[in-house]
Amino acid sequence: MKKISIFGATGSIGQSTIDLIRRAPGAYDVVALSGGHNVAQLARDAIELQADIAITAHDARLEELRSALAGSGVEAASGAAALVEAASRPADWIMSAIVGAAGLAPGLKALEQGTTLALANKESLVCAGALLMQTAADHGARILPVDSEHSAVFQALVGERIEEVERIIITASGGAFRDWPLERLKTATLAEASSHPNWDMGQRITIDSASMFNKALEVIETREFFGVAPEQIEVLVHPQSLVHALVGFRDGALMSHLGAPDMRHAIGYALHWPDRNALPVARLDLAAIGQLEFRAPDLQRYPALRLAQEVMRRGGLSGAAFNGAKERALDHFIAGRIGFLDMASLTEEGLATLEAQPGLIDASMTLENVTRVDDLARRAVDQVVTQRTG
Ligand code: NAD
Ligand code: MG
Repeated sequence: MKKISIFGATGSIGQSTIDLIRRAPGAYDVVALSGGHNVAQLARDAIELQADIAITAHDARLEELRSALAGSGVEAASGAAALVEAASRPADWIMSAIVGAAGLAPGLKALEQGTTLALANKESLVCAGALLMQTAADHGARILPVDSEHSAVFQALVGERIEEVERIIITASGGAFRDWPLERLKTATLAEASSHPNWDMGQRITIDSASMFNKALEVIETREFFGVAPEQIEVLVHPQSLVHALVGFRDGALMSHLGAPDMRHAIGYALHWPDRNALPVARLDLAAIGQLEFRAPDLQRYPALRLAQEVMRRGGLSGAAFNGAKERALDHFIAGRIGFLDMASLTEEGLATLEAQPGLIDASMTLENVTRVDDLARRAVDQVVTQRTG
């Protein structure tokens, strides 16, 4: 039996992972499951899968979790330190599917036990790519990408050498507003930004898809994970979300990965790697689809893509500053305090504020420094919001 843990088990990726686990009774021994506010769901899954421990991120929910687990034999815990402790419990395969920078500390701890980390939590690579990759190397751990584009690139690279890669093209659906006139974006509401044309995902990544911040994070994720230069990474708008990525080699050949927009594809690939196993995903009927559509991204419409280039050029802890500012700007948009387009300008201002502080971005990449920069970036954004809203 493969021992597994799922961090962010109650979310969209977590539930898709559990769906695959459930279909293979007896194949997995579940160690830890974590969630946030949705304690009832967490307890139900932990009892059904006979997990050793269930952790809620929120201390205020611990009593509720305890009583939901009463008599089940599943241990209950809460808070960031408990998450990290659970990540140190021996497991052969650990899913990192917490949303946001909060996924970094448990991810690092998981790598320290030399396990296989299935990484959906792209924010940790954006904030601390070098630290994550070095920790994996130091402990003989392996990171398998779960983001659909990165899983696609990973699969296209099987049997290939990274030195022979000329370019990596990741596709973007364009999100909820791809066909809106630029003027109208200013008035985009939370409800409009929270619905995705192709993918069923958590609310935060869905809004990030509409603003292209998700693609900006993914460009940086590509650089950090595959070690290619920023100039080698291209974004291609592909509204159908069937081609997930393409890898171009020095002989001009392009290898691509196509599949239905269903995250169980990438999750299942990471779960069964290096083997392939049957997955309950739709099979593409290309004759019925008829045509694949591609277009270049409009950089005016998507300032996030420009910011990603600047972050990669700057290096150091600018990824942590960028992500922290972006996360906080998104909080403000969700809370109704700012407009859709303000997310980009706030992120840019937050990033600039941190970059102006001598030595901050160039401090060594430790968990402590990354956390500090993340926190300062959020505060910088709060300050701008206070100034703007009076
Ligand atoms: P989600 O919002 O559906 O779920 C997030 C999970 O993290 C939940 O279990 C939640 O309880 C937990 N969580 C939230 N805040 C937390 C905190 N501060 N501390 C601890 N736990 C916390 O998100 P999702 O869509 O499943 O995305 C998860 C991750 O996977 C993100 O990094 C996202 O970018 C990435 N991803 C998601 C998809 C997708 O299809 N959903 C695709 C590619 C990558
Ligand atoms: Mg993706």
